[in-house]
Amino acid sequence: MISNFKLSALVRPNVLRLKPYSSARDEFKDFEQELVFLDANENPFENGVNRYPDPQQYNLKNALAKQKNVDPTNILLGNGSDEVLDLIFRAFCEPKTDNIITLPPTYGMYEVLSEINNVENREILLLENFQPDLSQVVKAIDSQSKILFICSPNNPTANGIAADEIEKMIVQFPGLVVIDEAYIDFSEQASWLTRLKDFPNLIVIQTLSKAYGMAGIRLGICYASAEIIAVINKIKPPYNVNKLTQTKALERILDVEGVQQEIQNILKERSILLDTLKKIDFVEKIYPTDANFVLIKVDDATKRYTQLLEKGIVTRNRSSQPLCQNTLRITIGTKIENEKLITALNQLN
Ligand SMILES: *Cc1c(COP(=O)(O)O)cnc(C)c1O
Repeated sequence: MISNFKLSALVRPNVLRLKPYSSARDEFKDFEQELVFLDANENPFENGVNRYPDPQQYNLKNALAKQKNVDPTNILLGNGSDEVLDLIFRAFCEPKTDNIITLPPTYGMYEVLSEINNVENREILLLENFQPDLSQVVKAIDSQSKILFICSPNNPTANGIAADEIEKMIVQFPGLVVIDEAYIDFSEQASWLTRLKDFPNLIVIQTLSKAYGMAGIRLGICYASAEIIAVINKIKPPYNVNKLTQTKALERILDVEGVQQEIQNILKERSILLDTLKKIDFVEKIYPTDANFVLIKVDDATKRYTQLLEKGIVTRNRSSQPLCQNTLRITIGTKIENEKLITALNQLN
C-alpha cells in the first residue's frame, strides 16, 4: 500500500476544502524587527504575556527539529498529546462513516476521542503477552479504516510493542498509523522517529508530560511527513500553545543533561522497586516494563488499592481493563516515595 499512498484520499473532504483562519500573528510574526504592532487588538503595555504567542512556535520547533534530526515542517505542537490526538481524529475521520482501530488494553483517550468524534472504534485485544494479534488486526481493516493507534511502550501494560510487529502493521494498514511514544524515553527500544522517511503513513506522538517532567505546561508533539503536518496545521486553533508553555518547554528541551539525569534516576528506582515487589507474597505477577510505571497482578486489586490509599498512597486500579483483572499500575516516584510505598506494601496483610 505504501507505494501508492495518497494522503488526500484519507483527509476529510471538508478539511481538504478548508481555507484556514489566518491570524494577525500568522501574517506578521517578526517581533525582532522594530515594528509597531497595532494589528491584533492586544493591550500594548508589556508584562511578558500581553502579546499573542507565536502560532507556529518557531523557536521551539527549531530546537526540537535539531535535537530529533527532523525538519521543522515535520512537527506540529499541541496543548498536550490529547489535543494532538483530537486534531488527528478531526482531520481524517468522517463521523459516522470512518473507523479507527485500537489495541486494548491501552490508553483510554483513543476510545474517548472516538466517542466524542462519533467515529467507530474497532478494538482488537492484545494477546496474553500484550503483543498485537496481527491476523485479527488485518481482518478488522476495511476501506473506511483511517487510523490505527499503537501505544509503545503501552499504557497500562508498560511493555514496548515489538518493532517487527509494528512494521508489519505500518506496511499493511491502508490508513495512518499513529505510534504514541509518551514513554519512549524510558525504553530501550528505538523511537520510530527515524523511520518517518520510510513510511508516508506514519505519525509519531511524544509529550513533555512524562520523562520531561512537564505535565503541567501541556505540550504534545506530533511528528510526521510535511504533507500530513500541513493537513493537521490547517485545523489547529491558531494559538493552541501558549507563550508560558513555549518558553518553559524550550528551556527544558535545551537542558538535555538535566532531563537525562532524571530519567536515569527513575530507571534506577524502577529496578529497586521491581526487586522489592518480587518479595511481596500477594504480588502474583510483575509485568515487564519499558516505562516509568509498573503493572502488577495481585491477589485482590480492590482490597490492596484501598489498603494503600488508607496509608496515603494512590495507585491506579486497572482491573476494569481487558486482560488486566486484579492489576494495579504504580508510577515510579522519588526514592523517598518509593520507600514509603515499599514500607506500606510490607505492612499489608
Ligand atoms: C500520559 C500519556 C500521554 C500524555 O498526554 P498529554 O496530553 O501529552 O499529557 C499520551 N499518551 C499516553 C499513552 C500516555 O500515557
